[in-house]
Amino acid sequence: VGVKVATILSRKGSGVVSIAPERTLGDAAVLMARRGIGALIVSADGRAVDGILSERDLVGHLATAGAQTPTVSVRDAMTTEVATCTAETTTDELSALMTERRFRHVPVLENGVLIGIISIGDVVKSRMDELASETEQLQAYVAGSY
Ligand code: AMP
Repeated sequence: VGVKVATILSRKGSGVVSIAPERTLGDAAVLMARRGIGALIVSADGRAVDGILSERDLVGHLATAGAQTPTVSVRDAMTTEVATCTAETTTDELSALMTERRFRHVPVLENGVLIGIISIGDVVKSRMDELASETEQLQAYVAGSY
């Protein structure tokens, strides 16, 4: 089953770094580097999701546009068909989605409005926390039975 997205967001917060579609890949690279993140939500109004732009898209453009890459607009490089989830989605569902579709970021929406983003790192951390507490409980159980 795993843990609900709501639980992860309550721990890590609902902040999402977004960028407007008319900005450039140069701006996007600076933002990602400064914030230490691998993807940006593309949004004209900071609420609705117009697209997503990840490091992978920057690398793809470097391979084709080379030195022109920093001047390419975010709109021309972003993915527009964005898979999203809700606060009720579980980490197991996200693991399956990220593995099948081969992306590492999923925005969280509530009534069409952005309320957070879950990265593959958040999913892995949540699973590790779950396993650690399971182990602790089993150790307490085993120790108690002697
Ligand atoms: P990532 O693994 O998140 O760096 O993304 C790999 C590719 O998938 C990039 O082209 C992204 O624009 C795209 N992508 C990332 N997240 C999503 C998502 N939730 N839905 C659709 N495409 C995505």
